[in-house]
Amino acid sequence: MKIPDKMHAMVLEEPGKPLLLSELAVPQPAANDVLIKVSTCGVCRTDLHVFDGELPNPKLPLILGHEIVGTVVGVGTAVKACRTGDRIGVPWLGYTCGTCRYCARDQENLCEHALFTGYTRDGGYAEYTVADQRYCFRVPASYTSVEAAPLLCAGLIGYRSFRMAGRHVARLGIYGFGAAAHLIAQVAAAQGKAVYAFTKPGDIEGQAFARQVGAVWAGDSRTMPPEQLDAAIIFAPVGALLPAALRATDKGGTVVCGGIHMSDIPSFPYRLLWEERVVRSVANLSRTDAEEFLTIAARIPLKVEARPFPLEQANEALEALRRGALTGAAVLVIGDD
Ligand SMILES: [Zn+2]
Ligand SMILES: [Zn+2]
Repeated sequence: MKIPDKMHAMVLEEPGKPLLLSELAVPQPAANDVLIKVSTCGVCRTDLHVFDGELPNPKLPLILGHEIVGTVVGVGTAVKACRTGDRIGVPWLGYTCGTCRYCARDQENLCEHALFTGYTRDGGYAEYTVADQRYCFRVPASYTSVEAAPLLCAGLIGYRSFRMAGRHVARLGIYGFGAAAHLIAQVAAAQGKAVYAFTKPGDIEGQAFARQVGAVWAGDSRTMPPEQLDAAIIFAPVGALLPAALRATDKGGTVVCGGIHMSDIPSFPYRLLWEERVVRSVANLSRTDAEEFLTIAARIPLKVEARPFPLEQANEALEALRRGALTGAAVLVIGDD
């Protein structure tokens, strides 16, 4: 395939300013990189946090996007595990050092020298991108590229949050029912867990959507579920949900904050935490999470709710996500499969 010299990309020049449709040179793969012709790229809430300047020190100018599905069209000199023509997925975790104390104790998601796709290295709101092949994954063949994109962050980080909620959970609460929640609810339901979905007050449509993808109950985040939860995951970036989730969670249960950014958590009485309730966050993902989740996604045919946008409408996609106007995930459709 002939690779052009130039490509279109939506570029963040400065946080808070709309992404600019730009013409850039097609990047060159370094030794461990693959050059990818991008088919689709999911739009994640983290993109919105980077866009708004809520995450420190992004690469600037920056190409956002860390749920990339595309075709390998070039390989660096050290790449062994894939070749031209392979369909590949690129997640948020783009590089780790392998030697820092976190990497050494099997916590590569906390690596001190990590690079993140669409944050500290360029991502997928572009016709081409390069990615370190060692952090890329094959996506299950049964998913179209539009369906596969949300698996790569909403799915992977959602799955890590789900894992951290604990194995012996029968009743799982999910606060904020967007892209991650709709995938993880299906995984939980397939494992025989009862999912309780909490949406913004009055979001009847979101509650109906949650029931459609397997929730046994759906209601307002201000209301208590009909049963105490064994654990809860908060995907919405709203700190006030933490005391609400603790109140709904039984003794010994864990409340997992699945997002990279959250508004401040209001103070709450100690009795909500008492009796060995645990509050924890989840940061990034490890490659093990990705392999486990993608294996599960290949086995359970997850129904992926995705709304396509053309690359040029990345700003509109981000705003739709901000307004809560999406059920499921927004996905930029950039090239052919
Ligand atoms: Zn490291
Ligand atoms: Zn993400």
